[in-house]
Amino acid sequence: MAETRQAETHGFQTEVKQLLHLMIHSLYSNKEIFLRELVSNASDAADKLRFKALSDSNLLADDAELFVRVSADKDAGTITISDNGIGMTRDEVMTNLGTIAKSGTADFFSQLSGDQAKDSRLIGQFGVGFYSAFIVADSVTVRTRAAGSDTAIEWFSRGEGDYDLRDIEKAKRGTDIILHLRDDAHEYLDEWRLKSIITKYSDHLSIPVQMPKRDDDQKQDGWESVNSGQALWTREKSEISDDEYKEFYKTIAHDFDEPLLWSHNKVEGTSEYTSLLYIPKRAPWDLWNRETQHGIKLYVKRVFIMDDAKQLMPTYLRFVRGLMDSSDLPLNVSREILQDNKITRSMRNGSTKKILSMLSKLAKDDAEKYQEFWNTFGAVLKEGPAEDQGNQETIASLLRFASTHEDTSEAKVSLDAYIERMPEKQDKIYYIVADSYEAARDNPALEIFRKKGIEVLLLSERIDEWLMSHLTEYKDKSFQSVTRDDLDLGELDDAETKKQHEASEKAFETQLKRFEKALGDTVKTVRVTHRLTESPACIVTDDNDMSTQMAKLMEAAGQKVPETKYIFEINPEHTLVQRIVELDDDSRFSEWAHVLLDQATLAERGSLKDPAKFVARMNKLMLDLTQA
Ligand code: ADP
Repeated sequence: MAETRQAETHGFQTEVKQLLHLMIHSLYSNKEIFLRELVSNASDAADKLRFKALSDSNLLADDAELFVRVSADKDAGTITISDNGIGMTRDEVMTNLGTIAKSGTADFFSQLSGDQAKDSRLIGQFGVGFYSAFIVADSVTVRTRAAGSDTAIEWFSRGEGDYDLRDIEKAKRGTDIILHLRDDAHEYLDEWRLKSIITKYSDHLSIPVQMPKRDDDQKQDGWESVNSGQALWTREKSEISDDEYKEFYKTIAHDFDEPLLWSHNKVEGTSEYTSLLYIPKRAPWDLWNRETQHGIKLYVKRVFIMDDAKQLMPTYLRFVRGLMDSSDLPLNVSREILQDNKITRSMRNGSTKKILSMLSKLAKDDAEKYQEFWNTFGAVLKEGPAEDQGNQETIASLLRFASTHEDTSEAKVSLDAYIERMPEKQDKIYYIVADSYEAARDNPALEIFRKKGIEVLLLSERIDEWLMSHLTEYKDKSFQSVTRDDLDLGELDDAETKKQHEASEKAFETQLKRFEKALGDTVKTVRVTHRLTESPACIVTDDNDMSTQMAKLMEAAGQKVPETKYIFEINPEHTLVQRIVELDDDSRFSEWAHVLLDQATLAERGSLKDPAKFVARMNKLMLDLTQA
């Protein structure tokens, strides 16, 4: 006999309190979704039980017909949502209904602004789940008994700071959720109203959702299903309306918004499966966390197997929501089996191609909508070329960049558009990676490109350096960073220019030596630049060294990065350089050389190793100048 425990009161986790407060105050305009959330939880509980019973049939016992029941009690002012699913143990009740066990929750709450309209959109992205009960209820009772357990527990809360727990008797397995409705929510006591909400949101659930069956005198005569009960994705495409697809999306993705696009496919051949894949309009709150990925649900022959089937979708498509239903996998499939499995691999490859072709089509047919997608999910898609070599060219064609040929920081230019407007003699795709759009746009290394009218792609997202280290070619054109050592303008420089370069290098040879001597081993070498037209100097990275942005990325990830020495390029045409080389005093020359180097470093790196020294030097030179 299990020991009976006294009633206890527990405090909610801080985030739950915040969530409850927000929900009650920001979601009032869309109250009815509470029913969708609770029925969906009940249906999940049935799915989980069915799955567990595959290996332990005793769990179903003599109660094998799974259902969800919704009823209202007008006198008591309550609605009850019951299921005979998996139920919860005491510990599960405490974690599931007292905390929010999602990683990054605290970060999410720190984004809330207090502005109701904005926050209610955010909260929609977060997925409110069980706590949405408090939109319509001023108190909620949960009575639950876990499958296979003979004890039951009651949870009660007014949605303020805490909840009560006590042991109870409950004859059957499963969960009852009893909502004590607020005065302004009594409209939900009407059975017609409840029924219409259920058909709106939950029609497609494969589990029967039942309500009291009424005889002619309105007396209850058993229960009847109010949903059609056929899993949406098993129906013929031609019979499913757009609205049905959209509602289904909202239920499985816990999103308040409609999806941007979807695709429903029955695949036959080496492996047989159905997929229903959605691209959301908005980013979920935890998109940036590569670990949390609850995109794709896996079903086998219509039986729910698991959420978050990571093996079915590459990480760079983690914003995709939906499900896949396999006819080939065994029902007792585990995550381990999924990991290295021919069937899974073919489902994953097929769906990846499907998503990429959906996006390509959107880009072609509706550039504006595609831009909306890109602004939301582009940075995630940029992980693609590194992760998925096989589809690299297709992914690359979906990328969008800011560019010197556009006057907006918005990334709008595709590689195809870039190639199309390349001058005939150009054979490379030029780009620069910097900390910000402005730093990229104003980097001195672009001067020669501006002068020659050559387009350069301006990259400034954290992921960009990573992207460019994996993307080396597109449609036979190689990529070239404009801040790398060996800037080769190929045919863009004619023989005459090349001759001029050689001559100016020769003429400046002794001065270069003087700079080298002054700067010592703070630089790799000093040489004449061919990329500057307006600035006196710049630094570039040796082809064999790590680029500035990559080094920063690795440093930020806590890795030890060997110190990079830069190549220092000087513009002999610049007046400042011409004046400096005229200085006879070697120590003053050296001060100026260091200042030039530090300035160039600032423009490229955005920071200096020893900023105080730079400031001291500047002050000294300014003092010299003001005295003169
Ligand atoms: P989510 O469904 O997004 O995980 P919820 O707040 O809706 O978040 O629910 C939290 C957890 O509580 C669920 O993941 C589930 O484990 C549990 N739960 C909720 N409702 C039920 C139910 N009817 N039966 C069993 N477990 C439930």
